[in-house]
Amino acid sequence: RGSCASDSSDSVISTGSEAESQVYKVVLLGEHGVGKSSLARVFGGIEDAAHDCDEAGNAYDRSIMVDEDEAFIVLYDIWEQDNSQWLKEQCMRMGDAYIIVYSVTDKSSFEKASELRIQLRRARQSENIPIILVGNKSDLVRSREVSVDEGSACAVVFDCKFIETSASLHHNVQDLFEGIVRQIRLRKDSKEE
Ligand code: GDP
Ligand code: MG
Repeated sequence: RGSCASDSSDSVISTGSEAESQVYKVVLLGEHGVGKSSLARVFGGIEDAAHDCDEAGNAYDRSIMVDEDEAFIVLYDIWEQDNSQWLKEQCMRMGDAYIIVYSVTDKSSFEKASELRIQLRRARQSENIPIILVGNKSDLVRSREVSVDEGSACAVVFDCKFIETSASLHHNVQDLFEGIVRQIRLRKDSKEE
């Protein structure tokens, strides 16, 4: 199940044959407070919200079965670890796939998500990397500022997938990560042909 140590991913990456245990690096992006760490903890199977490795920046590794094939994901929640330009650039470069998160209760986080999409495109120009735009906190119905339609329209413009989630209710979180794996596999397959 999930582990929560910053360097635990290294050992995972270096073991096993390349072909069989493919490791996908997935990076969470998004403004402060949108729920990146909450989504990461749900993914990692860490129930305790007060888990002590919350703030520093973490990597969570886990294998998931998608379409009867096992995939191994290392999920990086390091975007806010510090404010250095170096780290931001590193994040933009290292991912096999990206999850850009905004909160449906915060319009400015939605606008920030568009900015991040543009930055990512710039950093990885010629590559066709999978991106999923995530509208989190879908449970907060009464304080919603961004509609589902706005979210999905934005994803169309930015040529990426879209899903709304609730980290609090664990709603759609599994679907999100299965979607990421399918996206990565699709692009890999089309590259090989
Ligand atoms: P981060 O800064 O992007 O890592 O965001 P956090 O994961 O730390 O979450 C920020 C706040 O939003 C915390 O108080 C979370 O409990 C809360 N939060 C995160 N996801 C959800 C959600 O899906 N629904 C609700 N209602 N609150 C959430
Ligand atoms: Mg966080």
